Amino acid sequence: MNPVVVVHGGGADNVSEDRKERVRRGIVRAATVGYSILQEGASAVDAVEGAVTVLEDDPEFNAGCGSVLNVNGEVEMDASIMDGKDLSAGAVSAVRCVANPIKLARLVMEKTPHCFLTNQGAEKFAAAMGIPEIPGEKLVTERNKKHLEKEKREKGAQKSDCKKNLGTVGAVALDRKGNVAYATSTGGIINKMVGRVGDTPCIGSGGYADNDIGAISTTGHGESILKVNLARLTLFHIEQGKTLEEAADLSLGYMKSRLKGLGGLILVSKTGDWVVKWTSASMPWAAAKDGKLHSGIDLDETTVTDLP
Ligand code: ASP
Repeated sequence: MNPVVVVHGGGADNVSEDRKERVRRGIVRAATVGYSILQEGASAVDAVEGAVTVLEDDPEFNAGCGSVLNVNGEVEMDASIMDGKDLSAGAVSAVRCVANPIKLARLVMEKTPHCFLTNQGAEKFAAAMGIPEIPGEKLVTERNKKHLEKEKREKGAQKSDCKKNLGTVGAVALDRKGNVAYATSTGGIINKMVGRVGDTPCIGSGGYADNDIGAISTTGHGESILKVNLARLTLFHIEQGKTLEEAADLSLGYMKSRLKGLGGLILVSKTGDWVVKWTSASMPWAAAKDGKLHSGIDLDETTVTDLP
């Protein structure tokens, strides 16, 4: 099987011109890292974890150290990961003081009998696993402080706008052995209530992976994605015989018409076909396959280059 990795940097209202280059570099780096992990013969789970870690460590993205702030000005992060080989899954929500929630989600998947740990329980587990606790302020950027102030000025406390500030990160991969996996990680939605959990850590909403079908990672308005189970709904359409493109259009279209919810998704099938789709204004993405790297941010804009 020829390995494939696809990554996204979140559905967004618009990526401003001054950020575009930095976002493009970050997304390309994540896809390149994910692809080289697959090239070395490692698993799809290793590749999606590696790619998402790169994006969590990049302050341009709404995950890890670039996470948007809740109403109290703090970072609370959600993440999930799934292995399509045996449907094993791990998730964490509302975690505060870890640099890479996706690594913690993987440990939940591999080292506990559970699928999902939240808040203090997740943080205790992180400590038990030897993951260093970092000061919460280390995850707070000046840009996100300004965004929160602006949001509060314009909207008032605790009213987050579903169309703005979307920017979760995610990855899907197919490895040489034919296993698929997904990983998704986010700071959620700006100005959210303390303790708000979005779609990202919820298996079937923020992503899904099944070797019999493929793998998907989603982004967008979490409350809408949760209500339609966007990830599993898209895979259901594929099971029913739709092409990847049709399945993505159907599920994103349903979420928009039923709930006015905007979002995006990346998808890889069990045979290595892939698609990226979004209904938000833009979505940074990159896909690596057969030595080629495809990437874009806005609609109708794709660049293709050779991978190193
Ligand atoms: N889906 C994320 C959430 O609602 C936000 C995003 O995708 O940017 O938490």
